[in-house]
Amino acid sequence: MLSTQQNLSVNQLLGPWHRWIRSLRTWLPGECLVCTQPVKTTQDLCTHCFSQLAYNRYCCTRCAEPLLSQRKDLLCRSCQETPPAFDQVLAPYLYAPPLDALLLNFKKNAKRTAGSLLLDLLMAELKTHPALQQAEALVAIPGQKDRLRQRGIDPPAWLAQRLAWQLKQPFLTQGLKRCRNITSQQELSRKKRWLNPQGAFVASQEVKGKKLLLVDDVVTTGATCHWAARELKEKGAASVTVIAAARTPF
Ligand SMILES: [Zn+2]
Ligand SMILES: [Zn+2]
Repeated sequence: MLSTQQNLSVNQLLGPWHRWIRSLRTWLPGECLVCTQPVKTTQDLCTHCFSQLAYNRYCCTRCAEPLLSQRKDLLCRSCQETPPAFDQVLAPYLYAPPLDALLLNFKKNAKRTAGSLLLDLLMAELKTHPALQQAEALVAIPGQKDRLRQRGIDPPAWLAQRLAWQLKQPFLTQGLKRCRNITSQQELSRKKRWLNPQGAFVASQEVKGKKLLLVDDVVTTGATCHWAARELKEKGAASVTVIAAARTPF
C-alpha cells in the first residue's frame, strides 16, 4: 500500500511526464473522437460536436440531479427528504450526445484518448471550483472485478489518477475498496436501487480528517456515491465532494 507521502512523490514524478506526453499531441493531426471528422486542435472534438455538449446547468445543489426549474439554488425532493452522505456532486455535463459516445468509448472500449478528453472537458468547467482548490486527497469509486478483467481499464481510477496529477494532490489508491460486487441496478425499483450498494465499500484510515474528491465517471442514481461517501465519513473523512463527467436523471 502506498502512503500519502509516497503517493505525492509518484504524482511529482509522473505529473510532468504526463503533461509532456500530452503536449506532444499538439504536433500530431487528429480526428474528432465522436464523429471522426479531421480536427486541427488538441481537443479531439470537432467544433460541431463541441457545440452539441449538453451542460447540467440547472440541477440540485447537493446531488446534481437535473431539474426543470432554472433557479440555481434548489435541492431536489430526494435530498430534502433524505440528505445524502456526500457534501456535493459536481457533474457539469448531462449524459447525452455527444458525451455519451465518449463515455462509452472510454468505459467499454478502454479508449484512453476519450478519457483524456473527458478530463479536459471536466477541468474546463471545474478548474476554479473551491472544492477542487481545497481538496486534500482523491479517491475513486472502485470498479467491479469482473468488468475490470473484461475491459482492462478502471475508468474512475484512471480519471482520478490524472486529476490528482493536475491538482498536485495524492490519489489514495487504497483509500476506498469494494468488498462485494453490486448486482445490476437496471431492473430494480427506485427504493431498491438506492439500497443496492449498501455495505459494498470499505475505506482505509488514510482518509481520516481529509477533504476528499470522490471520482466517478457517470452519476446515475447517486446511490453508489452515497454509500461510498458514508463509509468514507465513517472512517473520518472531513468532507466528500463527488466529481463526475456526467449526470443522468434518476
Ligand atoms: Zn465531431
Ligand atoms: Zn438532490
